[in-house]
Amino acid sequence: MFGQRDDMTRVIVVGGGTAGAEAAKEASRCGATVSLLEASGALGLDQCLFPSLLSRRPATSALSTTPEELSDKFGVEVELGRRVRRVDFAAKTVHGDWVQDGPANRRYDSLVVATGASSVPDEIKGSSKPGVWPLRSEADFLSLARALPGLSNVSIVGSSALLALAVAQEVYRATRCRLFVSGGGLGALSPGIRSRVVTDAASKGVAVVDAGVQAVVGMKRVEAVVALDVVHPCDAVVLLPRSSPSTPQLECARGVSGGIVVDGTMRSSQGGVFAAGDCAELRVGAGSVPFKVHSSAVTMGRTAGSNAAGGRVAQAAVAGTLALDLFGAQLCTAGLQVTQGRAVGLNLVEMEEGSEPEGALKGSGFQTSVIFERDSHHIYGLQARGEGAALLSGHISMIVSAHSSLEEVAGQDSPGPFPSGSEVSPICLTARKLLSRLRG
Ligand SMILES: Cc1cc2nc3c(=O)[nH]c(=O)nc-3n(C[C@H](O)[C@H](O)[C@H](O)COP(=O)(O)OP(=O)(O)OC[C@H]3O[C@@H](n4cnc5c(N)ncnc54)[C@H](O)[C@@H]3O)c2cc1C
Repeated sequence: MFGQRDDMTRVIVVGGGTAGAEAAKEASRCGATVSLLEASGALGLDQCLFPSLLSRRPATSALSTTPEELSDKFGVEVELGRRVRRVDFAAKTVHGDWVQDGPANRRYDSLVVATGASSVPDEIKGSSKPGVWPLRSEADFLSLARALPGLSNVSIVGSSALLALAVAQEVYRATRCRLFVSGGGLGALSPGIRSRVVTDAASKGVAVVDAGVQAVVGMKRVEAVVALDVVHPCDAVVLLPRSSPSTPQLECARGVSGGIVVDGTMRSSQGGVFAAGDCAELRVGAGSVPFKVHSSAVTMGRTAGSNAAGGRVAQAAVAGTLALDLFGAQLCTAGLQVTQGRAVGLNLVEMEEGSEPEGALKGSGFQTSVIFERDSHHIYGLQARGEGAALLSGHISMIVSAHSSLEEVAGQDSPGPFPSGSEVSPICLTARKLLSRLRG
C-alpha cells in the first residue's frame, strides 16, 4: 500500500514533535514518500499536556503518537536517534552524525524543519540549590507531580504568563503557591483581562507577582525567594525556562527570536524548504512573529506537510490560539499583542469591553479585548475571559487568522445560543459596541 514509486516526491521531516508528526502524516496523505528523522528516542510528545501531568497519576505520559502509528497507518518511515546537524541545499541533503548505523545523510525533494525550541536557562542566583525544579521535560513534570504532595509552599517562576498560569492552575490544587512572572510577561494579557485573571488567581489563594525572582535563598536547600527586594518564604521553586528556536545549521531568513521565517504556506526563504511549529516565525506585516502554541504547531505542520508534498494550501489559518480553564474561569487568547504588532510595523490599538449580567457577582461576566489596526479595523488579536470563552476558540481563531474587520465581525450571524443566554456571540456584540464607541 505504501510502496515507493520513482515519481513520488521524497519529503524529509526533521523533528518528531507535534508539528513534525502532523507534517509527516499530511505529506503522506498527499502521496509523498515520507521519512521522519527524530533526534531523541521517542516522538509525538504533546508538550501542551505537560502542565496537566502535575495533577494526574505520575505514570501517565504525554505521548500523542507512536512510530508504529505513523508507519502502519500513514506509511511514514520513522528513524529515531537521528539528530540532523546541517542541511546542504545544493545537494538537497540533510546530514547527521549517526555514522555507526550507515550513511549519515538523506536526500530530499522537499524538506520540513520542525525541530521545536529548546530551553534557555535563566541565570537566577541560588537556583542550583536542592528544592529547585526546572521544568524542561516530561520527566521533570512527572517528578514534580510525585513531589507535590510533600511540599507546602511553592514559588513558580517564569516569563511566559500563560504557561506559568497553566502550571499554577495545577499546582494550587496540591499545595499553596505564588507566581512570579518575569520580563513583563503579564503584558501578554490585555490590562482588563489581566486584572480579572489575577483576581481569579487570588480568589484561589494564588498571588501573582508582576516581577521575576532576584535570588533563591536558603542554607542547605530552598527556604525563600527574593523578588522586588522582598523575601517570600517557600520550600520549593518551580522554574519555567525561556525557550529559543532550535534548528540544524541552515542558511535562510531568520526572525527576531532566531526562528526560520515562513510565509502563510510555510515556505522558508530557501526553495523546497518548509518550517513549522516552535522553530518557525510567521511573516506578519513588515516582520515576523513566533506562535509557540499547540494549535499553531498543528496547523503549521499540516500546511508544511501538504505543500512539501506538492499541495496548494495557500494561507494557513495560524492564530496562536490558546484556551485554558484558569482558576474557575475560561480564558481564550489569540494573535498579537499591541507591542508585537508595532514591532512589525502595524499601527494596532486595543479596546476592551466587559459585560456584567444583572445581579451577578462582580467579575463573573464576559470580558473581551480586541487588538485591531487603527485605520482598517482589521483584527490581529483577540482575548476573551468568562463562561464559554474556550468554546469560542474556533470562532476567535478564524477572526484573527483571517484578520477580519470589526465591521465584518459585527455583521456576522452567530451559531448561538451562548452561555450568556444570548443568540448573538459575545465577540460579535463586542465588535458592535466598539464600533459605536469609535463612531460616537
Ligand atoms: C512545558 C510546556 C507547556 C506547554 N503548554 C502548552 C499549553 O498548555 N497549550 C499550548 O497550546 N501550548 C503549550 N505549549 C507549547 C506547545 O506545546 C508547543 O508550541 C508545541 O509542542 C511545539 O511543537 P513542535 O513540534 O514545534 O516542537 P517540539 O514539540 O519541541 O518538537 C520538536 C522535536 O524535534 C526534535 N529535534 C530537535 N532538533 C532536532 C534535530 N536537529 N534533528 C532531529 N530532531 C530534532 C526534538 O527532539 C523534538 O522531538 C507548552 C510548551 C511547553 C514547553
